[in-house]
Amino acid sequence: MILAPFELHRPTRLDEALALASAHAGDFDWLAGGTDMLQNYKNRLNARGHVIALDAIEELGGVGDDRLGAMTRLTTLADDPRVRERWPGLADAAGVVASPLVRNSATLGGNLLVENRCFWFNQTPFWRSTKGSCLKAESDECRVIPQKEICYAAYSGDLAPVLMVLGASIELASPSGRRTVALADFYRGDGIERNVKAADEIVVTVLLPPEAATLRSGYEKLRHRDTLDYPEMGVAAALGVDDGGRIATLRCAHTAVDTVPRLTDYTNEHAGRPVAEIGESIAPTVATDMEASARPSRNTAMPVGYRKKMVRVYLERLLRRLAEERTVQTE
Ligand SMILES: Cc1cc2nc3c(=O)[nH]c(=O)nc-3n(C[C@H](O)[C@H](O)[C@H](O)COP(=O)(O)OP(=O)(O)OC[C@H]3O[C@@H](n4cnc5c(N)ncnc54)[C@H](O)[C@@H]3O)c2cc1C
Ligand code: SF4
Repeated sequence: MILAPFELHRPTRLDEALALASAHAGDFDWLAGGTDMLQNYKNRLNARGHVIALDAIEELGGVGDDRLGAMTRLTTLADDPRVRERWPGLADAAGVVASPLVRNSATLGGNLLVENRCFWFNQTPFWRSTKGSCLKAESDECRVIPQKEICYAAYSGDLAPVLMVLGASIELASPSGRRTVALADFYRGDGIERNVKAADEIVVTVLLPPEAATLRSGYEKLRHRDTLDYPEMGVAAALGVDDGGRIATLRCAHTAVDTVPRLTDYTNEHAGRPVAEIGESIAPTVATDMEASARPSRNTAMPVGYRKKMVRVYLERLLRRLAEERTVQTE
């Protein structure tokens, strides 16, 4: 497949990039690693005339104690000892995105903004033309649930659920200033609108609260081929344990079983209970509740009933694992 034509810009400063966004308003995309976007450009999916590459902007890089630059490569997240020590669930999730080759180019910011996926959308122009296309591309009707209002394409990023359970926020910069949005409030339940980011905003940094480095965290993923594929379902959990061995924090999230990654905070419900109770009664209760909140559509390869059921199976397994781990000391 040949890329759709575009003019490439490669600014070295954030203000330069934002000025380019104003100059080409309505007809540009930001480019990070390109592993998702350029595939969509090859499929002629909503391609623009101008592409503004972010890789030469120093401010977008770097791994700190409480921040991760948006241009941090997934290989770095998976392999950097500081990330593994402070946020092990994030390192786990980054290490199972796509393949090693893709992870060398793919970035954190691009992963949070990965395009929602659907069997009817991620196809060549020829394939789409034979079926009449759909609401998210050239037509005006959804093929999964016939109507003209909402797209049910699945949010299929691996990192968002982990960052949500860790309590992360993202810093956005635009020509009119900066703002910080909690990741839990970032995504919108429509596969076309997808999130609250304006077209001219750049994700600069992911911010993690100090508490995140004290939590046990993990990620479990269901996919066809463990060497390459997007999630058909993924679950993340974060568990905080106090000095007396009691639950201080318990948050869970799922991905790829809805139009958004979905977070549920179980802290109020279970705080103060002994960690040993996770294996006995808490894990099955929480996992069943998360299964009930999953709303997969019939638009990826695996059957919806199976993807939904696996939320419970994988999450119960993950919670039992976290309950048996020792808390990491970061000081
Ligand atoms: C074979 C294959 C398998 C894959 N498997 C997985 C998988 O298992 N799990 C998974 O999560 N993903 C998967 N992906 C998708 C993709 O590789 C990753 O999500 C990757 O992290 C995207 O990052 P990127 O830097 O390449 O994003 P890009 O493709 O460069 O960008 C993606 C989107 O984000 C926007 N964007 C990127 N950075 C910024 C920023 N800083 N500010 C504003 N907008 C920005 C772009 O404009 C674009 O809309 C797969 C891709 C391929 C080709
Ligand atoms: S869910 Fe419907 S509108 Fe969205 S990509 Fe699939 S077919 Fe198109």
